[in-house]
Amino acid sequence: MLDEAMRFFDDHGALTQPGDQERYATDWSRDLTGTAKVVVRPRTSADVAAIVRHCAQQGLPVVPQGGHTGLVGGATPSKDGTEVVISLERLNRVREIDPLNFTMTVEAGCVLEAVQAAAASADCLFPLKIGAQGSCQIGGNIASNAGGVNVVRYGMMRDLILGLEVVMPDGQVWNGLKKLRKNNTGYDLKQLFLGSEGTLGIVTAACLKLFPKPTQIETAFLAVASPTHAVTLFGRARRDLADLLSAFEILPRHGIELSLAAVPGQRDPLATASPYYVLMEASASGLVDVRALVERFLEGAIEEDLITDGTLAATSAQSAAFWQIREGIIEAQAQHGRHLRTDVSIPISRVARFLDDTHAALARTEPNAVSLAYGHLGDGNIHFNVLPPAGLDEADRVAMLYRCEATIFAEVDAAEGSISAEHGIGSVKRRAFLARTPAMDIDLMRRIKSAIDPGGTMSPRRIFE
Ligand SMILES: Cc1cc2nc3c(=O)[nH]c(=O)nc-3n(C[C@H](O)[C@H](O)[C@H](O)COP(=O)(O)OP(=O)(O)OC[C@H]3O[C@@H](n4cnc5c(N)ncnc54)[C@H](O)[C@@H]3O)c2cc1C
Repeated sequence: MLDEAMRFFDDHGALTQPGDQERYATDWSRDLTGTAKVVVRPRTSADVAAIVRHCAQQGLPVVPQGGHTGLVGGATPSKDGTEVVISLERLNRVREIDPLNFTMTVEAGCVLEAVQAAAASADCLFPLKIGAQGSCQIGGNIASNAGGVNVVRYGMMRDLILGLEVVMPDGQVWNGLKKLRKNNTGYDLKQLFLGSEGTLGIVTAACLKLFPKPTQIETAFLAVASPTHAVTLFGRARRDLADLLSAFEILPRHGIELSLAAVPGQRDPLATASPYYVLMEASASGLVDVRALVERFLEGAIEEDLITDGTLAATSAQSAAFWQIREGIIEAQAQHGRHLRTDVSIPISRVARFLDDTHAALARTEPNAVSLAYGHLGDGNIHFNVLPPAGLDEADRVAMLYRCEATIFAEVDAAEGSISAEHGIGSVKRRAFLARTPAMDIDLMRRIKSAIDPGGTMSPRRIFE
């Protein structure tokens, strides 16, 4: 019976050998690895539907996978070798760009960077911008409700989707591929799949919202004395810049130093060191003078002692270099081996206190660990990460990182925040999520899951036990 089940997959680009499966079985961070029963790579929505129907009939669990850059283990197969990984990488066509409607319809396996380029070729902007954009896919962005650096202006993936096509757990195809901005006909079903992490169905195509491509982009790298100064500066930026602020990141000095050391060829943008920095961007199309707005904002910020130094990018290459320093922090962390990555959300007005309290708590409990907090201050999303000291064996390292995570999450709870801002729950955050989520929320989520996937074959043990 099972041989017959496996023969079916041969027609869908099946990979069964461990060597061929490696990048599908091990996640981006290389912290998580599993074994797939088989990896299949369908080319069309109809093929995805046929595979899912077949798996449902055979009782085989399936796990959809995009670029495998998710950081919570949602797309990594389990270790027991029972799960069928369905890679969407060959569903990568741009089906339509409609510049008058400011929409584009793409298949789930399109790489985010390719989607951005296709939008730009029609003089439009698809604004999702994240560090993994060269490898992550639209389907993965939808399933994890990705955020990134432009959320302050354009919202998360949930805000960028008008319609979806989804293969349901029984193999039926739900066609919700609408191009409408207003559609109040019953429940908004597409929202169920946004952020569902592959547990309710497989997204095969999406209609994305586009925006006018900015003709002016101003990027500033600013020195600030403290997180409190950064938060006050943010409020001023939103008001002074006519709501044209598109990114507002906070970076600590230590993060800049790690990035400069890890990625060769980078230069410190400012001559003197500062405890913290803000990397911000304002952009617009049309007749508004963004440069003048930013210069006036910076004059006001200097007068109010909110910034101590700063520079505006003179060219797009310089702007890219500023962003490279920010992304280099992720690279630098990866070079340190196993470390703690968190992705927490705090009300913006409480971020400064949260940072101070959490640094103090970690200094008390784990004085040898290095804490490194940076991220999307403009939407309250901080990556509070910890690098363990060198020389610990693996078991001690992991135990220390668990303790640090518990300390950070306790501070998140005290600040009425969330333990996952944009990465989701997957398998890695499941216990922490279940421990602090009200019983009624879990009950409602479980009822949705069992109504849509009564056989429980879609990404089992992700989000829930
Ligand atoms: C360097 C780096 C920087 C990052 N920066 C950010 C950031 O700024 N903001 C942010 O939000 N995230 C960020 N991430 C994490 C982020 O979630 C992913 O990069 C991205 O959204 C996941 O896309 P993917 O195609 O790689 O999905 P995968 O990792 O393949 O999958 C992620 C989840 O979605 C499910 N899934 C995948 N495809 C489908 C589909 N077609 N249908 C249904 N379910 C599916 C999987 O089963 C899994 O649960 C970053 C990751 C890295 C490595």
